[in-house]
This record gives sequence, structure tokens and C-alpha cells, in this order.
Amino acid sequence: MIIDLDANATYAPTEEIQGVIQHAWKRLGNPSSLHRGGQRARAEIEKAREAVRRLVGAEKDDLVVFTSGATEANNTALDAGWRSIAVSAVEHPCVLGPARRIQAAGGDVRIIPVNAHGAIESTGLVQSLTADTELLSVMSANNETGVENDVEVLGTLARKVNPRILVHTDAAQSLGKRSISFTGMGVDLLTLSGHKIGALSGVGALVIKHGVAIRPLLLGGSQEYKIRGGTENVLGIVSFGEVAELASETLAARIDAMSAARDAFEDALSQAIDDCEFNGRAAPRLPNTSSVYIPGALGDDIVVALDLEEILVSSGAACSSGKPEPSHVLLAMGQGEDRVRSTIRVSFRADQSVTLVPRVVDTIARVVSRMRVEGVLK
Ligand code: PLP
Repeated sequence: MIIDLDANATYAPTEEIQGVIQHAWKRLGNPSSLHRGGQRARAEIEKAREAVRRLVGAEKDDLVVFTSGATEANNTALDAGWRSIAVSAVEHPCVLGPARRIQAAGGDVRIIPVNAHGAIESTGLVQSLTADTELLSVMSANNETGVENDVEVLGTLARKVNPRILVHTDAAQSLGKRSISFTGMGVDLLTLSGHKIGALSGVGALVIKHGVAIRPLLLGGSQEYKIRGGTENVLGIVSFGEVAELASETLAARIDAMSAARDAFEDALSQAIDDCEFNGRAAPRLPNTSSVYIPGALGDDIVVALDLEEILVSSGAACSSGKPEPSHVLLAMGQGEDRVRSTIRVSFRADQSVTLVPRVVDTIARVVSRMRVEGVLK
């Protein structure tokens, strides 16, 4: 049986969600059509919008704008004509990329450092802001380490430097793993991704606080409040609404299940491989994520060896043009390239239990000891 421990990459829809999609697929037309197929689709989209709004604790007047995913939502938030922004060093490339483009166009872009645990410190934040900084973008939780930011506290500090600053958070990884309150966090913009909680991939959302004006990234029809033109991804949105509904009802149990499995995994792995270390363990972390440094073995090699054993994890190294780049997240935490290349990420689903931990840990210990004997790093 395949054990998928790569939930932070994507969370495959359960059979229940697959059933909902099958059913919707046969009934729904283009939501802009006036006939019944169109109207049914429109009603389903609005139902999904309310489910997502509830899950993230947004107010009635805040806009939930469906997008093609968190990448598009982040690009929409960042590429909105800002001249002065601050983003953290460990953001996802779909935040750092638009930030670099603003910089290349002559904008003022400040990169907020993180400490050795991957957390943003208040001094680092304040030093990266000026009275003219228009947008602050800090992720709610990091995809590689699971390290979480207290966005409410960071936003409050930022507003002391510039009371007019807008605060954006990429909550793609927190959704379904933490209770999110758009209003409680005091943010103006919040990014979500459907496939990180079991919806189809290719759907996400940008939540926009009532009254905040955002320039559309895509110009087209009047869909999604004219902020995101183009025929909606109806099936994706329906699946997103359905998982949002379920996640709202079951969040506490999901968090308990994920943290029980992750913590049991870390305890058992430390016993089996006594020199392994967990990145970000000293900081507040998502309940499901473990970023493990295993000296004497390459992360990519471990991933491939585990795949042969039907265990799916990730090395956290983004592969661009066939050449794996060491993780910018771990480098920003002050780690050397060798350590970064010897790291894997294990991320649990909410429907997994501690019973799979012994097989996973035994297998990792076996493949790592083989690699150490073979001296693969030499
Ligand atoms: N932001 C974070 C923190 C992510 O982990 C991801 C996915 O890897 C994204 C954004 C991009 O999400 P999507 O695949 O929905 O575009």
C-alpha cells in the first residue's frame, strides 16, 4: 500500500469529493448562461463561496475571489501596481517572483529576514519597513518547514510604521491545518489553494477585505467581481466548497490526527537515526509537517529510494531546468548547502494515523544506513 506523506505538495481528493465532482460534472453549465445549467452552476459557485468564507472567517462584505490557485492569487495580490513592498525571505516563489519583478521595474522591495528557526522577528520586520511601504506580504505557514507566523502581531507592528500599509498573507498551507480568521488576523488580503486541502488542483482564492481596491491580473469578462475575468473553474470551485464545508466541521479532529502522526514520526525517527535534526522544531509549526536533516544522505536520493518502497515524501528542493536548486527557505535560515541537500520533508494527511509510523521510520532508517555505508556523499 502506497503511503503518501507529501500532503503539502497536494492532497488527493477523497472518494467522497470524487463523488461530488462526478455528480456536478453532469449537471453544471457555464455560470454566465441564463438557462438552467448555467443557473445551477452559478448557485453552486455561490454556495462554495460561502463555505470558503466561513472556513476562513471572512465577513459578508469581504470578497472571496476564485482564482486558478494560490499562484494566481499571490500574483494578483503582489502585481497590483505597488511601488514599495516588503516580503519575507521564505515566501513561496509565486510571491518572490512578482516581488523581483517590482524591483526590476524600479520599485522598492525589502526582504524580511528569518531567524535560524525560520521565524520572522519583530526587529527584522520593522527594519524592513518604511513609512511608505504599501504592502507587507508574510506567509501564514511555510510549505517546507511548516513554521508559522503570527500574522496578526506582524501586521499590528507594520501598521505602527505605516498606518496605511496593506497586509497580505499566503495561507495556502495553513488552510485545513489551522483555524484561520481573516477578520481576527486583521489582514487585507489572504491567499488560498484548493488542492492543498483535497479539492481539485487548479482552484484557489484571494480573499479581499471590503473596500480594498485590487487591480485585476486578468482582464476579461465580469466574472468574480471583475477582478478575475474568465469562465470559472466550476468543478474545481464546487470541490473547493465541499472540502471547505467538511474542513469547517472537522478541523479540531484533523489537527489532532495530524499532530499525533507527525509527533510520533519525529520521536521514532530520532530513536532510529540519532543524529537527525528537525528544521523549525523550536518555532510554532503546522501540525502535519516535518522537515528533517539527515546527515550522510542526499535528500533527493532518499526520496527516490523511498518511492521504490511506496513511500512518498519530498526533498524540498525545487527543480528548475533539471538542476535541483537548494531550498531558499533553508538557506535563509542560515543553513549551509550541504545540510540543505540532506533534508527531506514529510507531510501528513488528516486521514493518516500513527499506525503507519513504524513502517515509515524503519524504511527511512534502512535506506539511510545503506546510503551511509555506500558513502554516497563522497
Ligand atoms: N503558496 C504556498 C505556500 C504553497 O505551498 C503553494 C503550493 O505549493 C503555492 C503558494 C502555490 O499553490 P497553487 O499550486 O495553488 O498555485
